[in-house]
Amino acid sequence: MVYADNAATTKMSRTAIDAMLPYMETHYGNPSSLYRLGQEAAEALQSARETVAACLGCTPREITFTSGGSEADNQALISAARIGERKGKKHIISTAFEHHAILHTLKKLEKEGFEVELLPVDPIGTVTAQQVADAIRPDTCLVTTMYANNEIGSILPIAEIGAVCREKGVLFHTDAVQAAGHLHINVNEQNIDMLSLSGHKFHGPKGTGVLYARQGIPLTNIIEGGAQERGKRAGTENVPGIMGLAAALKEACDHIGENAAKVSALRDQLIAGLSQIPHSALNGDPVHRLPGNVNFCFEGIEGESLLLLLDQAGICASSGSACTSGSLDPSHVLLAIGRPHEVAHGSLRLSLCEWNTQEDVDHILKEVPRIVAYLRSISPVWKDLASGKKQFML
Ligand SMILES: *Cc1c(COP(=O)(O)O)cnc(C)c1O
Repeated sequence: MVYADNAATTKMSRTAIDAMLPYMETHYGNPSSLYRLGQEAAEALQSARETVAACLGCTPREITFTSGGSEADNQALISAARIGERKGKKHIISTAFEHHAILHTLKKLEKEGFEVELLPVDPIGTVTAQQVADAIRPDTCLVTTMYANNEIGSILPIAEIGAVCREKGVLFHTDAVQAAGHLHINVNEQNIDMLSLSGHKFHGPKGTGVLYARQGIPLTNIIEGGAQERGKRAGTENVPGIMGLAAALKEACDHIGENAAKVSALRDQLIAGLSQIPHSALNGDPVHRLPGNVNFCFEGIEGESLLLLLDQAGICASSGSACTSGSLDPSHVLLAIGRPHEVAHGSLRLSLCEWNTQEDVDHILKEVPRIVAYLRSISPVWKDLASGKKQFML
């Protein structure tokens, strides 16, 4: 089997599993308990916090462990909104191609009376610092832009956006779930005030995440209960999960350069090979791009059919379309970069990691063109395009 859906989730690393096992088998104490078994767990948590802080260039006190990227995103936005509202500032700037953990939280804040401005994304899938600068107003309380897009892989100019926000005195949050462990991050150099990451996107466990918040930024609880995480996130800490996340993040950050070089070389072969398919187009920034991300639109086919046939060929991939709750709406990300509905439906995302091989790439490059050609041969839409009854868009 070829696993090429690492943007959806990753296989756990041996290092991460080994870091977790002792905290399930022998060191299973509750970090809040006063006896030694509990205090050992508390010390382990502290060491994990230090490890994560070192990877981000911040202090351990600025790290809050959460149940994942979604929770971190929710808490960051709610916290910034509460800070803003106390100062009478209720304008929030974001982008049209954020993850739903951001977009849906912004919708909720909009219902509470916040004004949310989603910056348009250009055709290669990026947003500039100038756009952010132009949008900031005296009543802006938060700018939140993703570090790198999970569907099309574009990397945003985070340091530039951070500098603009710092200069104008506006809080800056970034959803760095696709970037952490894959791209170099330093929250101070990049002027990032808040940042979300998720363990399962870099070979750590699912259900684990981190919210970084710069010292002095008060977080609002979104889960009430005990005083864990300095009173900012109630609930007995997921000690094994946190240990796995920290070990996976450290391993990823220790090998970030070599992994990026290896993965981007495989990515570039896929991009070159798939570009040969007629009436296809690469989605996302060709230069500022996540090392593992490949995303194409193929005209005249349905992404879902492509995925099913790829599965039969032993390839796990994903399509841009989020067919959540049975709706077949095309991806909001592909629409945001200006792909028409029909074209957006025929998308394919392949996301690689450092464990993918040359054989994987060869297999994908054999199967995708074959399956696209087959699907076109049975597609009524393709028939109309080929006969000139309909105009090609790609
Ligand atoms: C996966 C992902 C999330 C959600 O993280 P979970 O840990 O699965 O909740 C948020 N943002 C982006 C960009 C993602 O890729």
